[in-house]
Amino acid sequence: MVQHSAWLRLFWILLLVLPIGLLAPGNGRTGFASASVVVVSTNVTFEDRSAMFGSRLGDDGLVGRLLIVEDVEPDNLDGCRPLAKHVDSLGSWVVLVERGNCGFAEKVRNMQASGAAAVVVGDPWYDLPITMYASGDTSDVHIPSSFIARTEYNGLRDAALNTPSGDALWIKLVCNEYYELPFLDVLFITILSPMLMMGFIYVLYRLRLRQHRLRDLAPADLVNSLPIKTFYHSKYREGDPAECAICLDDFDDEDELRILPCKHQYHVKCIDRWLTTRKKFCPICKQNVCPSSESTPLLSPRLRAFV
Ligand SMILES: [Zn+2]
Ligand SMILES: [Zn+2]
Repeated sequence: MVQHSAWLRLFWILLLVLPIGLLAPGNGRTGFASASVVVVSTNVTFEDRSAMFGSRLGDDGLVGRLLIVEDVEPDNLDGCRPLAKHVDSLGSWVVLVERGNCGFAEKVRNMQASGAAAVVVGDPWYDLPITMYASGDTSDVHIPSSFIARTEYNGLRDAALNTPSGDALWIKLVCNEYYELPFLDVLFITILSPMLMMGFIYVLYRLRLRQHRLRDLAPADLVNSLPIKTFYHSKYREGDPAECAICLDDFDDEDELRILPCKHQYHVKCIDRWLTTRKKFCPICKQNVCPSSESTPLLSPRLRAFV
């Protein structure tokens, strides 16, 4: 029963959490885009991934000067707050911030508020390119942004740091390919298929549970076919049972007693309930009341006749 409730809980959690996560407003597009950051002067290219929120890069890409936040605000490396100084006065700036401490959308919002034309979020820890998602409404994010993994991030950062002071590192953000997943496909893959699978596993589990329970019980028709006798004190002989071992009451005159194949006797209502809802064994000697041919209780007596 503990297992049963754990399954049920897992099923309901999946049923409730998956749609909430997927249908939350503002997740924006579905799919992912492989993109690049190209250093205009050298043509050196760094691979990145476009975010799932904000505007999409056009066919011409976006050209701008790279601004490393640590150059202007070393304590705001992660871009978790807007820059103190607005940066759009001298044209297009692409701001490079670091992953961590706040959400992706928050970084992009902060840099958008600071006048950035685009944002590149670099990962200082891992070499795994990811697609930036954001929960909640992101319709206020108008600039494009992308994510760049550790090695590429360090390369891009070094290129900027090695630029002679006074010069800017001009870069071009390019979207190479956009892989769009139709909404219904995403819905099916992420919500319906796990739910169907969980539902199927749950039904299978319930069926197996029922099968196990039935296997442990005696069929009602077999129990009904076991002999019954009426108890009378006047007919009591030394050694005969005087009480029902299930309810522990003494037998009274005219009590109906069921006699099991092992010859043990109980009140009819006590033993019938025991055999059909608890176990198919005699409560005293544990002898199985079902003959070997009755070992398939799922089959009806009529079907068993043909087995
Ligand atoms: Zn009884
Ligand atoms: Zn017995």
